[in-house]
Amino acid sequence: METAYFNGSFIPKEEVHISPDDRGFLFADGIYEVVRWYGSSFYDIESHLARMKRSMKEIRIGWDSAGSFPGIAEELIRRNNLAGCDALVYIQVTRGAARRTHAFPREPVAPTVYAFAWSFNPARELIASGISTILRKDPRWNRCDIKSVSLLPNILSFQEAVEDGAMESIFVREGLITECAHSNVFFVLNGKIFTHPESTNILSGITRKNVISLAREGGLEVVEEALPEAALKNISEAFITNTSFEVAPVISINNIPVGNGKPGPVSMLLRQKFHSAVDQ
Ligand code: PLP
Repeated sequence: METAYFNGSFIPKEEVHISPDDRGFLFADGIYEVVRWYGSSFYDIESHLARMKRSMKEIRIGWDSAGSFPGIAEELIRRNNLAGCDALVYIQVTRGAARRTHAFPREPVAPTVYAFAWSFNPARELIASGISTILRKDPRWNRCDIKSVSLLPNILSFQEAVEDGAMESIFVREGLITECAHSNVFFVLNGKIFTHPESTNILSGITRKNVISLAREGGLEVVEEALPEAALKNISEAFITNTSFEVAPVISINNIPVGNGKPGPVSMLLRQKFHSAVDQ
């Protein structure tokens, strides 16, 4: 039996009942986080908590107990017998249930908070062999810094990648590469690592932030500057980062090989540094 967290209680997942008037259901009016459990601890849950609080602040949802998220996540691991496994915890906070109207509910309503955990196969060897990607126009709004549950553009782009036999969709906005459907993206050009700076055009990934630190600590130059699409023909490597893929080398974009079509040395070095950091 799976145990979920729902509005203050740990209950069997099948007993979670969310109102049809919930604004998450009606408007995707909510935010979420995903945090990874590495067998004995969470990966940088403090940063995930900070990003969750920021997302809530940006869309003006108040959840007084937001600080309890790490405790909830740990309890979900324990209650679902996931200690010792690779696992993920998902949490979603919506503006709550109220009669449908675009404006926020006039009377204050409690947010809806739902979280669950599941065991996860990291498929490290598959990812280490490199992933294929597609390149598409960024179809999203201009507040990509908010981890909103409104993911339709990401879903449609990701589905396109899947139907093309690829594992990620890289986005271009006004000639510049932003990020991907569910990851940040980096490029190696003339020995330097380029990635889009933090802005409203990307989600500030926790993996992105920590990989940048690992790269700089290792003496690599990271330039937080968006790569023009036109520069893609000159890159020697590309890789993506996110909570589940960690650091994934990109071996092709739109069926065109990146570099020699194999995972590049910088990508693999950072992937290995990331593993050393999480496996400590
Ligand atoms: N960018 C987008 C659009 C994402 O959805 C995600 C993760 O879900 C990321 C970047 C990577 O973020 P993180 O490294 O915190 O998983």
